[in-house]
Amino acid sequence: MSSAQSSPVERHATEAYDVIVVGAGFAGMYMLHRLRGLGFSARVFEQGGGVGGTWYWNRYPGARCDVESMQYSYSFSEELQQEWDWSERYAPQPEILKYANHVADRFDLRRDIQFNTRVERAVFDERSNSWSVTTSDGKTVEAKFVVLATGCLSNARKPDINGLENFKGPVYHTGNWPHEPVDFTGLRVGLIGTGSSGIQSAPIIAEQAKHLTVFQRTANFSIPARNGALTDEERNTFRKNYPEIRRFAREVARNGIYAVQPDGGALDDDADARRAKYEARWERGGLTFMYVYNNLGLDRTANDTAADFVRGRIAEIVRDPEIAKLLQPNSHPIGTKRICIDTDYFATFNRPNVSLVDIKSNPIEEITANAVRVAGTDHDIDALVLATGFDAMTGSVAKIDIRGRRGQTLNQKWAEGPKTYLGLMSAGFPNLFIITGPGSPSVLSNMIVSIEQHVDWIADCLIHMRKHSLATMEAGRAAEDKWVAHVNEVAHGTLYPQANSWYMGANIPGKPRIFMPYIGGVGVYRQICNDVAAKGYEGFVIERAEQPRRLVTG
Ligand code: NAP
Repeated sequence: MSSAQSSPVERHATEAYDVIVVGAGFAGMYMLHRLRGLGFSARVFEQGGGVGGTWYWNRYPGARCDVESMQYSYSFSEELQQEWDWSERYAPQPEILKYANHVADRFDLRRDIQFNTRVERAVFDERSNSWSVTTSDGKTVEAKFVVLATGCLSNARKPDINGLENFKGPVYHTGNWPHEPVDFTGLRVGLIGTGSSGIQSAPIIAEQAKHLTVFQRTANFSIPARNGALTDEERNTFRKNYPEIRRFAREVARNGIYAVQPDGGALDDDADARRAKYEARWERGGLTFMYVYNNLGLDRTANDTAADFVRGRIAEIVRDPEIAKLLQPNSHPIGTKRICIDTDYFATFNRPNVSLVDIKSNPIEEITANAVRVAGTDHDIDALVLATGFDAMTGSVAKIDIRGRRGQTLNQKWAEGPKTYLGLMSAGFPNLFIITGPGSPSVLSNMIVSIEQHVDWIADCLIHMRKHSLATMEAGRAAEDKWVAHVNEVAHGTLYPQANSWYMGANIPGKPRIFMPYIGGVGVYRQICNDVAAKGYEGFVIERAEQPRRLVTG
């Protein structure tokens, strides 16, 4: 549709806000809270029936966050972080959703959130310097600013597998799980996908189902979670030390998680010392396994020492050597695909009711009415679980028809890969902010740390614009090009681009292969964002309200 065709929609706009926020997950909720506190009028549109974003949709068996609960929580309110009781080291999905609902109630957010409403279109009008936003209920509202809080892992991806539509039993996607309980008792269940979602759900499904068949394309590295109940003492230690823990997570830890940082390389130690360190981390469990050494993401030989250790552990856990071999990842350096955290995943393959089918050497031929056919063999199933991931980082933005200056769509602009300045804005799309967008640390970090940083930066920017009566702000093209090149350069200094990961867009056929998140670390990135703001939003193009005129160019 041309921009001219959008005019009638804009003329019928009935409501106007300072800011429209798209999405009521952790990003949208905090954005709304900040906006209201600053006296901006705001409306949030959320496609789900409740708050919580990713935690609203991902209700599959075993879903829990693998960033520890005391850290995967908002830090903006001292009262909130002191009063909320997390029950376990890693919070299960229902508890995180309860927390999201608690936050919504505590800060009275719901009155400005419209649920069950998708934003379908957002068109920038260069005459009025405002956005017309059209929603799935047929309404169009206007706003000076739009903030996309659409999430990085929110567009669940169904695989293009021949015959999937012919399957007669129920098909579930982990990223879009039913709200009603799903009971696999007595059923033969097929599970496709062995990323974080598949690895978390397999052990739970196996306990319930008559038989579980896991279809594995790529074996993945997974570290035991070592989950357990939190004691009062543990909670209190965190609470007492929150100021330092949060500061460290924001400024020092590369991925926004407070933990002992590595101070040496893997090849500095001899084999025995290395093994002892890996063992200690394996016993402690969790994402910080990769913190043993500071060069595991940079040096392939160093990385191999960690990968070999994990492969060795898999061989020790899994009794059938053939199955153990299949489960040992060898297609990518450890950590270059998002490392998984599990509870009894590898041991699940010792159960008599679980089988593993390698679909790397023999891809699925087709799905029939009641089976998954691989290499001419039908694996009979009654229910199918797709743990096949997401069109990550850009997928949910791409679903919205976003039109900036001269009617250009964001999808056209991003056809060769997402282009942003700091992951926050894209040139040609004024007053449109993205929270944890491509080009920012986002998915390589504790998401809540990155969300709070972006929301606070955007809030400061809006205050600046209001104070100086500025009409529009957008990424300057030169600054954007430079940032995109920098993000790429930093990524290619690491081992990450060696994996066919969703970070690279490699899980979506036809998606450009670009390393999307910024891998420079949350502390470095925060400093860059702060410096840009301190220099009058260097690199952004800003226009004054009455007299459109370029004040700053990138
Ligand atoms: P994912 O990591 O993208 O894994 C998808 C799995 O499905 C992969 O094993 C993939 O194989 C397989 N697959 C995809 N398309 C397929 C096809 N056509 N045929 C066969 N296999 C196919 O997705 P995810 O497990 O949902 O996790 C996504 C991200 O969400 C994680 O990396 C993590 O960041 C986040 N997450 C976090 C948690 C947590 O905090 N605990 C839990 C779940 C998810 P290939 O590898 O060969 O492509």
